[in-house]
Amino acid sequence: MTVRTRMAPSPTGEYHIGGMRTLLYNYALAKKHNGQFILRIEDTDRERFVEGAMERLIRVIKDYGFSWDEGPEVGGPHAPYIQSERLDIYKKHALELVEKGHAYYCFCTKERLEELRESQKAQGKPTTKYDKHCLSLSKEEIQEKLNSGIPYVIRLNVPENNTVVVKDKILGEITFPTNDIDDQVLLKSDGYPTYHLAVVVDDHLMEINYVLRGMEWLPSTPKHILLYKAFGWDLPIYAHLPLLKEKGGTQKLSKRMGSVAATEFLAEGYLPEALNNFLMFLGWNPGTEKEIYSLEEFINDFSIEKVGKTDLVSFDRDKLLWYNGYYIRQLSAEELFNRLSAWSEKHNIKLYEGAVDNEYVIKVTSLVQERLKTLKEFTEVTEYFFREPKVDQTLLVKQTGSKEKSEDILNSYLNLYSSINKADWTAEFLDEKSHELLKEKEYKPKEAFMTIRVAVSGETATPPLFEVLTLLGKEKTLMRIKQHLSN
Ligand code: GLU
Repeated sequence: MTVRTRMAPSPTGEYHIGGMRTLLYNYALAKKHNGQFILRIEDTDRERFVEGAMERLIRVIKDYGFSWDEGPEVGGPHAPYIQSERLDIYKKHALELVEKGHAYYCFCTKERLEELRESQKAQGKPTTKYDKHCLSLSKEEIQEKLNSGIPYVIRLNVPENNTVVVKDKILGEITFPTNDIDDQVLLKSDGYPTYHLAVVVDDHLMEINYVLRGMEWLPSTPKHILLYKAFGWDLPIYAHLPLLKEKGGTQKLSKRMGSVAATEFLAEGYLPEALNNFLMFLGWNPGTEKEIYSLEEFINDFSIEKVGKTDLVSFDRDKLLWYNGYYIRQLSAEELFNRLSAWSEKHNIKLYEGAVDNEYVIKVTSLVQERLKTLKEFTEVTEYFFREPKVDQTLLVKQTGSKEKSEDILNSYLNLYSSINKADWTAEFLDEKSHELLKEKEYKPKEAFMTIRVAVSGETATPPLFEVLTLLGKEKTLMRIKQHLSN
């Protein structure tokens, strides 16, 4: 059996980072078994449809480095892969179920359904359900209503007093009493299928045999199983994945804590390989200490058996930062520079001011690379390499405790640095001479070097000081130090 998995996002908003985790697992499972990964767009909910969302979700899936064997843009033997282009298929299948007695026409008005809900609530029922009212209509009555154009839906005829067992690869067996399951609408009055009908019909027709999806879909699964049975089709293997929550709580991912949409993380300056490596661990655990995984290694090691049986998995934003820093450090300075350039262009962000040559920027990049956690931080941590810094005088004086002392230090170093030839202006030489002066003047290293650091950069944390001075060059260094001297 060829493993066929799918991701079936709905274009109802921005693609959630949790969706990307689910996509990654589906992708890995298919690739591991030399199977196929299918992308299908589930756009049948016209009320929640968002213009442009489909294009954006396709874009972001590609930006994370994924492709699909069948789906929009690439086509495939089961095309079309966009549900709104398959409406006649769903209608045909809904009618087939009516024919078989597993589904029925319902002509109830909104008002009647509303009254029904209210009265069930008033009776203290925890959930409300359709009362199968239209199930008792005769063939003639139905035909008459259809002929006179009364709007209708088609509902699933859920058998009473029975159970549905979901056999989940991760969660085990879960039993649902059918009396808790509503006679789900399958085909809406606008001719569109509901998610439930469309997902089952398409998963079957597209020969999907593994359905890996978020836990939020578990309550829908018994309805899907009833549908498979009604059609007489084989079930896929189900695996419901734990949902993501903010670290240290039980609340789902929240905008207040940071990005939530997959695309926002890219805009924040996370690298796709870091994001993917982080996402791998949101549910799956290899059972070893190994934390760094390439996509290929993950595909090799992934199995549903290694996905933990838990409702929620912690989305540790600090860990993501750690991964990103790691992947940033793995790049050469040129590669990082190229990533920064592409990223800034894509997100319309100015990396640096003024005309500077690439060579200088690459040198700056290599200096800050070690400390960089996101691409976005680059601008902030490198500002003083491209612009005159705004130096906070209090901060400057704070390094020694007195204005006189600070000026004394700055003066001494100004003299020293003025006397160094441009040809000798290297980090090693500056380091050596600066330490000699330190001894001679009996300055404390921290006081002296922090004062110079703040004077030339406005910052208390920078890459190694003499590297910074080297890159800034003699002229700028002298000019910046001079500025802080009264005469
Ligand atoms: N269209 C559903 C969604 O938006 C698909 C759920 C499923 O995987 O069955 O996530």
